Amino acid sequence: MSQPEGQHNELSNLLNESRTFPPSEEFAAQANASAELYEKADADREAFWAEQASQLHWETEWDQVLDWSGAPFAKWFVGGRLNVAYNCVDRHVEAGNGDRVAIHWEGEPGDSRRITYAELQREVCRTANALASLGVGAGDRVAIYLPMLPEAVFAMLACARLGAMHSVVFGGFSAEALRSRVNDAQAKVVITSDGQYRRGKALPLKANVDEAVKETPSVEHVIVVRRTGGEVSWDDSRDKWWHDVVEGKPETHTPEAFDSEHPLFILYTSGTTGKPKGILHTSGGYLTQAAYTHRTVFDLKPESDVYWCTADIGWVTGHTYIVYGPLANGATQVIYEGTPNTPHEGRHWEVVAKYGVTIYYTAPTTIRTFMKWGAEIPARYDLSSLRVLGSVGEPINPEAWIWYRKHIGGDRTPIVDTWWQTETGAIMISPLPGVTSTKPGSAQRPLPGISAKVVNEAGEQVPHGSGGLLVLDKPWPSMLRGIWGDDDRYRETYWSKFADLGYYFAGDGAKYDDDGDIWLLGRVDDVMNVSGHRISTTEVESALVSHPNVAEAAVVGASDPTTGQGIVAFVILRGGVDDAASGEAALKELREHVSREIGPIAKPRQIMVVPELPKTRSGKIMRRLLRDVAENREIGDVTTLADSSVMDLISKGLKSSS
Ligand code: ATP
Ligand code: MG
Repeated sequence: MSQPEGQHNELSNLLNESRTFPPSEEFAAQANASAELYEKADADREAFWAEQASQLHWETEWDQVLDWSGAPFAKWFVGGRLNVAYNCVDRHVEAGNGDRVAIHWEGEPGDSRRITYAELQREVCRTANALASLGVGAGDRVAIYLPMLPEAVFAMLACARLGAMHSVVFGGFSAEALRSRVNDAQAKVVITSDGQYRRGKALPLKANVDEAVKETPSVEHVIVVRRTGGEVSWDDSRDKWWHDVVEGKPETHTPEAFDSEHPLFILYTSGTTGKPKGILHTSGGYLTQAAYTHRTVFDLKPESDVYWCTADIGWVTGHTYIVYGPLANGATQVIYEGTPNTPHEGRHWEVVAKYGVTIYYTAPTTIRTFMKWGAEIPARYDLSSLRVLGSVGEPINPEAWIWYRKHIGGDRTPIVDTWWQTETGAIMISPLPGVTSTKPGSAQRPLPGISAKVVNEAGEQVPHGSGGLLVLDKPWPSMLRGIWGDDDRYRETYWSKFADLGYYFAGDGAKYDDDGDIWLLGRVDDVMNVSGHRISTTEVESALVSHPNVAEAAVVGASDPTTGQGIVAFVILRGGVDDAASGEAALKELREHVSREIGPIAKPRQIMVVPELPKTRSGKIMRRLLRDVAENREIGDVTTLADSSVMDLISKGLKSSS
């Protein structure tokens, strides 16, 4: 068997991955970030954040940077007043950049729309006027259940403009998931579309809303964007077409300034580990960190860059790095409606070439999918415009990182592996392009202004090389301000573990390497215990993915009578490998491979070849469902899965192969 790209021999597990990629002189010379930024932030954190905040337009200046006296409920830029939508739209027009493209929107069927900042301003104003005419005002909640349409951005910004909170619910979620979120937030209005394009088909969407609102007494209006032209049922007293309520409304609207701590949105976490939490974010601190991180981590040059974040708007990455960060910075960006393999597996690269995308931000799951499809696909397109690549959502396996750099980044672009959460609101740990020598698989260092530590159960920092728990030991501007309607759960979930120390517990395992760089090791809940050894799921998965036959892997610890837990691995094979790769001999070799890479203790008890893995809408593997399979239990709650039929596929496949 051939070794892919000759890399295989050097690749190893996360413990001894040692290659680094220093920035080129050329990149460093023009970078937004500099090494001094760390020193500056360390010298005076609050002054550093005040400087970042002053890049925004404030109607009234704050009189205190941080008030942490009500911990764990923070107040940032106390007394300051601003309008978030004004900052994302109007001020760019007023600065003379109204003709700059804000959004290159690309529909899945191939239609497209080009929206300048001046047009965005008109659309947001009309939408705000429409919502106001339906009685939406400051403090009200609006649920947005839309595919990746420009209207989703207009609606979010219109809410922000009015001081209403949006709660975006991913357009792939079921009626049931929508209903529970609408009820939790007590939303007054739901904004949806007749249907959506997915994988080349027009699928209904409003039907889910009809189903959901049967039991959502708070909902007064449903606004429907026409997208597919599909048939919809209609309730005259409740339903309104977007074009009827928005078109014809005035194209101007005077924004009101709100308190820095005025609530901006509620967003439910992905639900990878359990019941989603309604995370609350507010205005001034959130926008400050969104804009700062977007500018610094992606090296954004608003005059020349074309930025593309492939996340869905229903996920926090879509909020911070499609809507608020890029628009606050006056960026030009691509928004793509559909799936990466519609109508063909080169669609993303076709879009990159079409718009000359310079910054591309995606998830490891997507990168591994591209690897599975093969490097010959991106090779057909001109990707020379790309200059920064980003990754978010899961630890990125070194093998996937190397592939990404080589086949997408032309062996030249810096890669920023960005660690953060719905709760943190914005990027927390990441290399800085032009400054950091990057390492495949490591998120490396807390950003300037951010403080994170890896600690043991007692809260003491662990020595280099050993694993521990990731905590954030100082408040940050875009931190969550609570769980909507549940202060107790907020305290309990994030602040109780290290209550004496006042650390925020992120729920992720991590470790330092010898340089002091941070490696994320997966969720603490997922750490396996084999004969008393704690083994990280991420490390075993990375070892599996470093084998030339394997495209994707998920491992879980299943209870084992002798070892406590045994490692069970689920793997997807790469495209093009022959049938023998799923045979007994090949699987035995794969188990040996893990043993060689990490050690005999990490050797999987069992490896199962599967066609798909269960993932959330944001692309994260739901290991708890795989644990159910591995332990022959009934499968648990699947409502936050991207595709609920995957579990049937896996169960069926396993039955027929055993
Ligand atoms: P829930 O909290 O409901 O289980 P979730 O944690 O999947 O859902 P998100 O807030 O979308 O919801 O995901 C944040 C998590 O994603 C982090 O806690 C971490 O486990 C993982 N993550 C995100 N980015 C990275 C990264 N660059 N490296 C490693 N892990 C990451
Ligand atoms: Mg989480």
